[in-house]
Amino acid sequence: MRRLLRSLARRLRGRPGRRPAWKPFLLAFWPFILGSALVMGGLAAIVVGYLGAAGTLVVGLQMPYLISGGLLGLALVVFGAALLLLHGLNRQARLLKGVLEEGRAAPNGEASPAPNGLVLVPAGATAFHRPGCRLVEGKTARRLKPETAARKGLRPCPLCDPAAAS
Ligand SMILES: [Zn+2]
Repeated sequence: MRRLLRSLARRLRGRPGRRPAWKPFLLAFWPFILGSALVMGGLAAIVVGYLGAAGTLVVGLQMPYLISGGLLGLALVVFGAALLLLHGLNRQARLLKGVLEEGRAAPNGEASPAPNGLVLVPAGATAFHRPGCRLVEGKTARRLKPETAARKGLRPCPLCDPAAAS
């Protein structure tokens, strides 16, 4: 029995020198978990408040149940939903940051200036790009000299930075 407990404790702590597997998961998802728990708890409080009010036949006693259960439940649901929303936004921001950093890390690789030094201007765009920039991928674009694009009031794309190429 004691040996079983010790091996269980070791398993919970994780192997020495290695982070337990649940830790990064918990770090990344605690707003989601807490938010879900709060929303469910809030809904439960509303239901309990409603049942408490319905179960009380004396009208004067119904209000405290409704108010405390309803308000507490509503507050929990709102707070939980805010946490969930924050979690979603955080994820989006991290994804976007990854894409931007990826693009900046290889500005001379896939997005190199064309041999003739022309830049691309997608139809209706206000910026010009190096050929191969992921923002012009799959779009029809005019080819212009960088000076011409600048004269037309177009600005260099912040992602592929075509001004540095010219
Ligand atoms: Zn670009």
